[in-house]
Amino acid sequence: MKSSTHAIGFVNATVVLPDQLIEAATVVCRDGKIASVGQGNDVPEDAKRIDLRGAYLSPGFVDIHVHGGKGADFMDATVEAVATACMAHAEHGTTTLFPTTSTGSPEQIMAMIEACGQYKQLQTGPNVEGIHLYGPYFAEDKLGCHPADGRRDPSPEDFNRYFATGLIRIATCAAELPGSQTFYKAAQRHGCLITCGHSNSTWGEMQSAFKAGMRHVDHFWCAMSSIPSLRQRFPAPMQASMAEFVLMHEEMSTEVLADGCHLAPELLEFAFRMKGVGRLCLVTDCNRALDLPPGKYRFGNQASGSWFKSDGKVGWTPDGKSLASSVVGMDHMVRQMKHSTTATLPEVIRMASLTPAERTGIADQTGSIEPGKRADLLVLNRQLRVKQVFARGERLI
Ligand SMILES: [Zn+2]
Ligand SMILES: [Zn+2]
Repeated sequence: MKSSTHAIGFVNATVVLPDQLIEAATVVCRDGKIASVGQGNDVPEDAKRIDLRGAYLSPGFVDIHVHGGKGADFMDATVEAVATACMAHAEHGTTTLFPTTSTGSPEQIMAMIEACGQYKQLQTGPNVEGIHLYGPYFAEDKLGCHPADGRRDPSPEDFNRYFATGLIRIATCAAELPGSQTFYKAAQRHGCLITCGHSNSTWGEMQSAFKAGMRHVDHFWCAMSSIPSLRQRFPAPMQASMAEFVLMHEEMSTEVLADGCHLAPELLEFAFRMKGVGRLCLVTDCNRALDLPPGKYRFGNQASGSWFKSDGKVGWTPDGKSLASSVVGMDHMVRQMKHSTTATLPEVIRMASLTPAERTGIADQTGSIEPGKRADLLVLNRQLRVKQVFARGERLI
């Protein structure tokens, strides 16, 4: 990994740890890693001293569900598009991303994985830890804004190519699809966080998926089964859904879109209290319209993705009737979650950093301010606005 060889010493920082704030703290970074966290004003002589005057020093955010930003969607499948989207999110505090596929043809998905792999090799800018294989294995009746012709059932001929790249770290499949069990088992062999999303699955289907290693559900309450939605499949008796399954099983984690448009404050509070900080992730699920003016854009690939409208706050389907993913960065989600719930600042930041890092198996490298981890750090002011961003000790913003 390319990293700055010089040392940095942050002084007068309010350090955000996973469970507490430390005032007047000093954090020293060396060779791209965090070397020490302590108090007092002493920094090594060779270190560049940065006086934060009480501002927050937070771990960089980790986004496990993100489609694009600043005009680029990862499905555009060029290194430039990947770099543009990653840097767009760095401006909002994200230092580690899992670029997320939408539905698409096998060629489009393979091209996206290859472009992200090439970007990863550049070892510059925000970290790409791996890819979230999200589309194409969605239920037909829960497609949301994803292109319908890019949806299919999982088959080993298709998914083995993606797994063979060694880049897939998160793997989504709707549990009710034929072939889902084989998919989950393959994902498990490749060490992925296995998730069920865009699904109308029953309790029983979730149970089978759980046995095959599924432990996470994408964007809670969005494009997933509910008791009423399952009555379309089984009129009586009423069936427990993905929601009850996630709430009942402590091992299951999930994520919320805290953009203020997808979920009302009481739902954010409910998810936080029911799942707790160790099992709830903040994600952006952000598309290419991040930091672009309101208008019409494509979700997924630039040439063949489905159209949506951004009003500058959130995405909408062209008829204006359904939401179509978010258009804001992780800093917005953090501020909204802090404002809308009883979660403390360390808890909110944990849900945007350490928790997603733990769920994806990278918590030994990033996700909290701890000696030995990468110097993926943010300076936030008291209004939680991003002021400086470092990845591996390299200043990005
Ligand atoms: Zn989705
Ligand atoms: Zn999404």
